[in-house]
Amino acid sequence: MSELIDDFDRRIKYVRISVTDRCDFRCVYCMSEEMTFLPRDQVLSIEEISMVARAFTELGVEKIRLTGGEPLVRRNIDELVNNIGSLEGLRDFTMTTNGAQLRRYASSLRQSGMQRLNISLDSLKPERFKELTRTGNLEKVIDGIRAAKEAGFERIKLNAVILKGRNDDEILDLVEFARDESIDISFIEEMPLGDVSEHSREETFCSSDEVRATIEARYPLLDSPESSGGPSRYCRMADSDSRIGFISPHSHNFCDSCNRVRVTCEGRLLLCLGNEHSTDLREVIRANPGEIEPLKQRIRESMSLKPHRHHFTTDGDVQIVRFMNMTGG
Ligand code: SAM
Ligand code: SF4
Repeated sequence: MSELIDDFDRRIKYVRISVTDRCDFRCVYCMSEEMTFLPRDQVLSIEEISMVARAFTELGVEKIRLTGGEPLVRRNIDELVNNIGSLEGLRDFTMTTNGAQLRRYASSLRQSGMQRLNISLDSLKPERFKELTRTGNLEKVIDGIRAAKEAGFERIKLNAVILKGRNDDEILDLVEFARDESIDISFIEEMPLGDVSEHSREETFCSSDEVRATIEARYPLLDSPESSGGPSRYCRMADSDSRIGFISPHSHNFCDSCNRVRVTCEGRLLLCLGNEHSTDLREVIRANPGEIEPLKQRIRESMSLKPHRHHFTTDGDVQIVRFMNMTGG
């Protein structure tokens, strides 16, 4: 039973932990071309992240997702996954990755108890993939997806951010790829996180409704009741096991059932992706080495900081200056 209940009676069952701000890609909607990353001593160590994960599970959290930056560029990531995979009370353990290192890591992640993977894929055209990720290699990511399938993950889901004029002509190709591979796919609306100057977000914004209309022209979609307590809605097609998700962070509809919080790679606990309300867990961990109780106490106290709802806009105003790689997707 979760001990973490906020002032609006929402039970926190899900934590996303960013394990690094670094990445081997520079996706145009996530990072600028030149990035300065945090000095290593400001980032939580593998032991500190393991302790944060343990504290949350002891407080009733059942689901942990590792993200970043790119979690698979973090040194000793397999040790961290192993530590978290053995925590009691954890029912759902997942990672969001760009997939480029999965050939190397997929089977050890699976063996350490990770059940599901989200793999980002915005284009099936090699040159366009390179343009959108700036440094990525499509072939490696496709091979990573195959490695994840071979490793026997319970579910694999692709994440695609759709930008008008950049990859919106590939919506159906991405759906067909997911169908052929018998995996799921979610389409994500671009969020105004970080001041990326490569494109105007106002011009490239493509709503979930537009993506859905494109898919429905070929495959009628049946709404599915599955919900993650987050901004995702799921649909099914009559002739396939693949699920199609739509992630609309701009929608406020999910705030009432929000069951999640995030921890940045610096150990800042963010109570809401769209607000700055936060508390510093690193300070507590480093002031009380090896002691879990002070950390649990700080997490309990932070519940009163969770705001009722977020306030994203699409009018080009960057309200939240953090880059996505700092907060984790
Ligand atoms: N590096 C991993 C990856 O790309 O999957 C994990 C971290 S990444 C920040 C997590 C997810 O956030 C990815 O699916 C990415 O496409 C998405 N993302 C990044 N910046 C975004 C933005 N500004 N708006 C919407 N989604 C974004
Ligand atoms: Fe890296 Fe993921 Fe951001 Fe792309 S979306 S730059 S892969 S952290």
